[in-house]
Formats: sequence, structure tokens, C-alpha cells
Amino acid sequence: MPSKKNLIHCDALVVHCMDYRLQKFLQPWITVRFGYDNFDIISLAGSVHDYEMVLKYAQLAVQVHDIKTVCLINHEDCRAYGRAGTYKRHVHDLKDARKKIQALFPHLKVETFYLRLDGVFEFVA
Ligand SMILES: [Zn+2]
Repeated sequence: MPSKKNLIHCDALVVHCMDYRLQKFLQPWITVRFGYDNFDIISLAGSVHDYEMVLKYAQLAVQVHDIKTVCLINHEDCRAYGRAGTYKRHVHDLKDARKKIQALFPHLKVETFYLRLDGVFEFVA
């Protein structure tokens, strides 16, 4: 077991798509939301489309950085989803991922967003 003084912490894990069109919106938004050096971040094609991978990183971020929040961001016109990527499907997948993560880690806050290509982050309740 590591001693307490070796524990390091950040508040959040952010999960978003790899899509280059989003980066100019993501970087400033995430930094304002969580602080410049206060988040882990992963970039996966389709974001929560690969739920198993998201879960792996959530577990790791809880273990090694004691995160309190997971922020999941899907987006408009995601090519990893292709034609299946309707707004309804993204909302469904985000809610599903949130539900599963919260079932496994009840202490975590899970935030879900749908990012439009015009840069608007829509909160998914
Ligand atoms: Zn995408």
C-alpha cells in the first residue's frame, strides 16, 4: 500500500471523441470547468460508444487519482457512430453509460453532454 503522502488527486475524468473538429471547443471548455491541471482526459472514437473502455479508465482514474466526477461528452455528426448516430441514440448512450458507472461507483458524479459542431455544449439530463 502506498503511504498517504504519495496519494495524488484530481477532480475529474473527461471522456470525449477523438474528432479533430471538436478540439478547439473542448480544450477551453474543460479547462474552465475543471481547472487547468485538475482532470484526467481520454479521447476515444465515439466517446461512450466504447463503454467498456470508458469503464476501464473510470476505474483506473478512481484508483490512482481518486476522481469525484466523470464527464462524458458525445457529439453531433460522430463518424464512429456513422448513420446510427442520431441525437436520440447519443442521448440514450450517454444516459446508459452514466447509469452503469453510477451503479458501480455510487460516490461519483457523472455529467453528460452533447457537443454540437457549432461549439455549444448541451447538458443531457
Ligand atoms: Zn466522434
